[in-house]
Amino acid sequence: MPSIQFQQGPIRPPSEADSLLIRTTQGCPWNKCRFCTLFDGMDFSIRPVEDIKRDIWAAKAFYKGRKFDTCFLQDGDSFAMDTQDLLDVLNTLKQAFPELKQISSYGRAQTMTKKSPEEMKAICDAGLNMLYCGMESGSIDVLQKMKKGITPKSILKSAEYAKQAGMKMMTFIILGLGGKELSDQHVNETAALLNQIDPDEIRILSLAVKPGTELDSMVEDGNFTPLTELEMVEEQRKLISLLESVNGNYGNYHSINLLMELNGKLPEDKPQFLATIDRYLALQPEQQQNFILGRRVHYYSQLDDMSNQLYFDTVQRELNKIEQSGTANIDDIFYQLRQRMI
Ligand code: SF4
Repeated sequence: MPSIQFQQGPIRPPSEADSLLIRTTQGCPWNKCRFCTLFDGMDFSIRPVEDIKRDIWAAKAFYKGRKFDTCFLQDGDSFAMDTQDLLDVLNTLKQAFPELKQISSYGRAQTMTKKSPEEMKAICDAGLNMLYCGMESGSIDVLQKMKKGITPKSILKSAEYAKQAGMKMMTFIILGLGGKELSDQHVNETAALLNQIDPDEIRILSLAVKPGTELDSMVEDGNFTPLTELEMVEEQRKLISLLESVNGNYGNYHSINLLMELNGKLPEDKPQFLATIDRYLALQPEQQQNFILGRRVHYYSQLDDMSNQLYFDTVQRELNKIEQSGTANIDDIFYQLRQRMI
């Protein structure tokens, strides 16, 4: 196989696994969020348009006639590009890959709100019709504590611009991002903002504190108390119960999440989501722990898997060993297991 003669960035959303990847920017224009190490050590830059266009044609040659329905523009924020340059890139993409139905990108609220509604419409009309928004929380206190550099106001405004332009919008939310200190604000204000935005899709992630991050230091210093797995389940229950005017997909696709079966559509699947969570919450504490460990060591993918007696007993033996060793609190073990997944 010939070597790739075009740039590929380090990240893409999991749902873009089969997409054509074209790199328009390198790194993240903000790169300061306390929980994030995605672009550590990488300065943000916007790639020259001629280089991006050369990459598009190089990708066309490399894939030898392969048809792509979707394309994702890497890395952190294509909206940081000058609008005319972005339109130039989109037009070239459509010439090279006329079958593309969806072109998507991450977009930071602070960057997108610098574009006019007319510019956003032109960008959408040129093909960039899907936006990934790392909102994480709708609470100003949480966003500030995490140094996200965006506000609920700017998130709402950018979402309005994107939707008015005709773009689809997928929004990421991180359970536990307020810690114990701001859990109520996190869940209440996130639900309120989601109700206002009504995104096409909500994707849930569960916080795992990466070693070496500023957030890790905050945990050490006692300025941030992470939620336990059980508390994150309770947080998600509250979030779902407060989503009243969201009409779109809701998903727990990342394996860092505990209840992977919470996938479907709001509002119709809301009763089923709540029933699944209640089924977990109704388990005896030892069974809840068995399920957490079983998920973290990959015996289970969903609650029903606990009915496999062989798996259940194997996980229970591991749980007993941990408890008998007395080396650490079981919640601390679960915290460390989650850290290993990022
Ligand atoms: S905006 Fe996103 S990529 Fe940039 S630092 Fe924050 S979480 Fe990381």
